[in-house]
Amino acid sequence: MAEEKKQSQPVDPKGMARRKLLTGAVGGLVVGAVAGTAIGSLGFPKTVTQVQTQTSTTTSVSKPWLPSKWDQVADVVVVGYGGAGAVTALAAQAAGANVLILEKTPSLASLAVPGANISGGGGNTHINGGLVVVPNDAANGAEHAYYLCWGTTPMPVCQAWANLGTQINSYLDNLGLKYTTQQNAAEMPNLPGASSVTISTVNGGGAALFHALDQAVQAKKIGILFGTAATDLIQDPTTNEVLGVSATSYPAPSSSSTTVWQPSTGSPLNIKANRAVVLCTGGFEYDDQTKASSLKMYPAHFYGWIYNTGDGGRMASKAGAMMWHMNEISGRCVPWFPDHDEAYSYQVSAQLTYPKILVDKYGRRYADESSPAAGHNWWTLLDEFNISVPEYSRIPTFMIFDETLRTKGGAISSGGSQSLPTQLGGTTVWSSDNSAEIGRGWIMQGSTPAALAAAINSSTIVGWNNDDTVTVPAGIKVNIDPDVLTSTITDYNNYCANGVDPDFGRSKSTLIPLATPPFYALPLWPGGPNTQGGPRRNEKGQVLDLDGNPIPRLYSNGECGSMWALYPAGGGDNSELVVFGQISGQNAAAETPRD
Ligand SMILES: Cc1cc2nc3c(=O)[nH]c(=O)nc-3n(C[C@H](O)[C@H](O)[C@H](O)COP(=O)(O)OP(=O)(O)OC[C@H]3O[C@@H](n4cnc5c(N)ncnc54)[C@H](O)[C@@H]3O)c2cc1C
Repeated sequence: MAEEKKQSQPVDPKGMARRKLLTGAVGGLVVGAVAGTAIGSLGFPKTVTQVQTQTSTTTSVSKPWLPSKWDQVADVVVVGYGGAGAVTALAAQAAGANVLILEKTPSLASLAVPGANISGGGGNTHINGGLVVVPNDAANGAEHAYYLCWGTTPMPVCQAWANLGTQINSYLDNLGLKYTTQQNAAEMPNLPGASSVTISTVNGGGAALFHALDQAVQAKKIGILFGTAATDLIQDPTTNEVLGVSATSYPAPSSSSTTVWQPSTGSPLNIKANRAVVLCTGGFEYDDQTKASSLKMYPAHFYGWIYNTGDGGRMASKAGAMMWHMNEISGRCVPWFPDHDEAYSYQVSAQLTYPKILVDKYGRRYADESSPAAGHNWWTLLDEFNISVPEYSRIPTFMIFDETLRTKGGAISSGGSQSLPTQLGGTTVWSSDNSAEIGRGWIMQGSTPAALAAAINSSTIVGWNNDDTVTVPAGIKVNIDPDVLTSTITDYNNYCANGVDPDFGRSKSTLIPLATPPFYALPLWPGGPNTQGGPRRNEKGQVLDLDGNPIPRLYSNGECGSMWALYPAGGGDNSELVVFGQISGQNAAAETPRD
């Protein structure tokens, strides 16, 4: 899919030492605060009234769980300033609440990021492909979502998404965005309701989408505390009501710093939410412990925003939330090397007009590389386990290609963390002819398929870093039978000659033979752009407890507890955050003010 293919912005090549981020951590810069008084279409305010947030409110000391003083007060506190946080904040403010956003990372001004055209934050939203699923029919859309999620997402949630989802293009129009549309884009076209899946692709990708949202937030003077990481929810232990958020506020970094920004020593901050808190902290792509204990396969690596460390999920868990979709991702298999925590952006179904196949640890193809489901659901294939060894048969997977593809372009896609500035975790840019990666030993080569198998077998392939929280042997030895890899390639080339793939039905136009030596192998690990799991939410955007009851005054949006199990198509996440931002924002604003 073209979806994740965000054009790389010019970024200096850099070879950063790998780094380890603190989770839950993260100088406090306040940018205004305003409240809207009337809801316009799709959550945009018609009129706006300036209301400053209160500060330093003292509280009763008879309740030990209450902070001795509140440093900030707002009606609705939105935690995380990616797309989910921005849409939620706009909707809450439009519904009459004064809103304060907390964002873990510093403002881009304080990081002196060259060419930055947003105030800061942005998360995965800012680096995404800008695809947005728009169901063209509410009933079919809801049915499709329900089937995709195996019923784990109740029908009322699917309906809430589909009903408002049909109006997403109007929301994009209101933001002044231009987009192209694609019909019949479902990755699982055989599931009921699939014909409803259309995609709107925003011109300029996620960068344009978040820029427009950021402009709207700035125009409405909604308060943002940058460099402020929420660490805990403040909750009444008797009623479970969420009263506010504990946070750590970090000093603004030196504007001359070019190293990656990391949370370090900060000051505690207590922020009161007079109406509600909305968790919009993204996923847990960079929390090894949660990945290892939640995802269906490990190691799993991601190529997005390194500050998404599952903070919202942890806070919600402590507040008694039920988790869902913790074993689901939007992903496939991706290149990862121990030099960085980040993986590289990769599409199984890209570059298929060049010679390229994917094989397991034994040198065998195992699926149709041209399948629509390869886009964001290929990862579901990777948990095949060989109990006789025992080992995962497809971890790592190898992309096998030949000299034609090597010289025609990178083996991988641009975008993801490659497009980020160094200060926010940008990775080394992949060379256009793969020569640097061959030189580093990331890509193995052989003059024949058998020689390539020997090259793979003589390597120790490292899948994770042992200094992370998960400590297990990092290196994997693979033992591909040279005859098996040779016959896989021979068979595949015969299929290309015949124009038919009898094994997996790969589409004819992509049957391009591996004919020009040398041959290459790139190891790939489970992963992709993002995780989906987090606190379970209902159709009102409320976070639910273990009994299925709403935790009072707690809402969520976006990747922090996404509704998706299987992924509908590129654009599912942007679609959800636009819809549930409006729902959660409006419902959070509609809570009865505590004071
Ligand atoms: C390369 C790439 C391409 C993609 N392409 C697409 C696409 O085309 N279409 C699509 O629909 N989806 C796409 N996705 C997925 C999509 O970008 C995300 O699912 C979506 O943007 C999530 O939005 P969010 O606001 O929930 O999270 P994010 O946008 O990641 O924002 C979360 C924010 O919360 C902040 N935060 C984290 N913890 C804390 C804390 N404790 N306190 C305060 N702040 C905190 C983070 O710093 C971050 O700014 C892509 C993802 C990637 C990585």
